[in-house]
Amino acid sequence: MSRKQKKMLVRIIVSAALIALLQAVPLQGAWRLAAYMVPYWIIGYDILLKAAKGVRNRQPFDENFLMAVATVGAIVLGEYVEGVAVMLFYQIGELFQSYAVGKSRRNISALMDIRPDYANIEGADGELVRVDPDEVAIGTVIVVQPGEKIPLDGVILEGHAALNTSALTGESLPREVQEGDEVISGCVNMSGLLRIRTTREFGESTVSKILELVENASSRKSPPENFITKFARIYTPAVCYGAVALALLPPIVRLLLGMEAQFGEWVMRALTFLVISCPCALVVSIPLSFFAGIGGASREGVLVKGSNYLHALSQTKVVVFDKTGTMTQGVFEVSEVSPCGMDAAQLVEWAALAESYSAHPISQSLKRAYGQAIDASRVQDVEEIGGHGVTARVDGKRVAVGNERLMARVGVTVQAGRQPGTLVHVAVEGVYAGCISIQDRIKPGAREAIDALHRQGVSRTVMLTGDRDDVAQKVAAELNIDEVHSELLPAQKVSWVETILEKKAKGETVAFVGDGINDAPVLSRADIGVAMGALGSDAAIEAADVVLMDDDPRKIALAIALSRKCLRIVYQNIAFAIGVKGVCLVLGALGVAGMWAAIFADVGVMVLAVLNAIRAMRIPKL
Ligand code: ADP
Ligand code: MG
Repeated sequence: MSRKQKKMLVRIIVSAALIALLQAVPLQGAWRLAAYMVPYWIIGYDILLKAAKGVRNRQPFDENFLMAVATVGAIVLGEYVEGVAVMLFYQIGELFQSYAVGKSRRNISALMDIRPDYANIEGADGELVRVDPDEVAIGTVIVVQPGEKIPLDGVILEGHAALNTSALTGESLPREVQEGDEVISGCVNMSGLLRIRTTREFGESTVSKILELVENASSRKSPPENFITKFARIYTPAVCYGAVALALLPPIVRLLLGMEAQFGEWVMRALTFLVISCPCALVVSIPLSFFAGIGGASREGVLVKGSNYLHALSQTKVVVFDKTGTMTQGVFEVSEVSPCGMDAAQLVEWAALAESYSAHPISQSLKRAYGQAIDASRVQDVEEIGGHGVTARVDGKRVAVGNERLMARVGVTVQAGRQPGTLVHVAVEGVYAGCISIQDRIKPGAREAIDALHRQGVSRTVMLTGDRDDVAQKVAAELNIDEVHSELLPAQKVSWVETILEKKAKGETVAFVGDGINDAPVLSRADIGVAMGALGSDAAIEAADVVLMDDDPRKIALAIALSRKCLRIVYQNIAFAIGVKGVCLVLGALGVAGMWAAIFADVGVMVLAVLNAIRAMRIPKL
């Protein structure tokens, strides 16, 4: 509990004790009024002040105003106990709600407990100095001891260790890293001593980006939240006018009919009406549900950038995938080298050098196949052409490395056999130099991911790829994907997604899942862009609406299931709160439900709605 909450608890206890005490003391007249004003002021002064402030700012209609009018009204009518008790229970409800909200916020930030407090740098005589991660420049060597968090992104210079990435990815198995590996901030070093050369400043490092993303998530409102804001704006004044009408009209009609007016009775009913109508259950529980849903997802390594995306996820009907790096591991292995007029090692060397600057999975595998350090000074004029390949000058010679389309573009005729897999052709100085066949492996869990999506009510799965048709068909058949389109350029992937978007019905959304390499435009075009490979690709974090921290395609179905659960809870709360309030309003107007029933309905609905909202944090079973 925070200091503020503790103070509120003391106020509640003191005023409740005073009310109980006053029941035993027979006071009369002004003394009785004065005595009740003490607990009333103790428990309600902040509400009264806020209500007065609202009136002064000409924005009176909020729950403070409702409570102030209702309780002051009850006291004026001589119903002291009711007046004070309404305020007391209202404050108990508020305390409970602030405690619950604060607790789930703290839970989430504890789960996201990845913010490093310091970085160790080596001082002049080798001792470690702790500095603020913010002050560490790019290229500084930092030391991370076992048990410490990696404070900045970088490359390991020395040492090997097992890293715990669970705070980032939800993955509990440790990841082994060694010299030369890239590491990202937020992981915890569990075993060896690491010396790391930083490659990013703190503000650009993965931790900062993730924290920023999670902190801003609740500012992007979902349709139900916007609805409640609008609803409250009309609802509260409407209820106030309704209450005025309830207080005035029946007595006037009674007078006209020659009966006794019973003003007191009707004013009391109107005040009850006000207490019941307080919309705080909705105003509090709906944003809380989304917050809990986003928090639950982040615990599983799924970062959702806003409540609006959680809402969109729950309506997913079509899921479109990229192939390489999304459904496949993107770790190609060279299965055959077919050179033309040079030896195989020479061909691989040309290819690896030309690819030296590319981040594409194909480039990574060629560099691995080459197996030697790349002398970047031999490479100039690099140009990477999306969906084609790369061209560069290596040792002064023009080299092109890519698919058949690239060869056609540089005017080289391909002379290849029927090698299986993805073919990387190489041309040197405009002459065909041979091809390298590479093969990718399907991700473990990719098939399950597709099945799980179908179980979550996704009606169509589509794969878009720039790779050859036979490779694409084989992967799709193995994964049970409904539809494949192959040999696409990045721009053609966008137009396919646009075609799918045009055909969808209202209230349905299309998600695109990619790795952020070559497909950032598609990620931003789809209703929901889901990026894989946050453990590396910046473009993905920027362009996507949802980021899967550990590249596991099964998490998409999990995210959809979580979003559906969250929305179910939101609609339950809306129906429950509006339903109970509606019934109580009628009963209050008819005089069946009195002030006590009103306050229990109000606080009770709020407590139940908040408890229900917190459920959105728990991960559903798939
Ligand atoms: P995917 O849709 O499978 O993710 P991309 O759109 O990234 O594939 O690339 C499509 C095709 O373009 C690849 O299959 C490959 O033939 C070629 N290509 C793209 N980038 C490169 C590169 N850096 N080196 C060689 N070939 C490339
Ligand atoms: Mg790709």
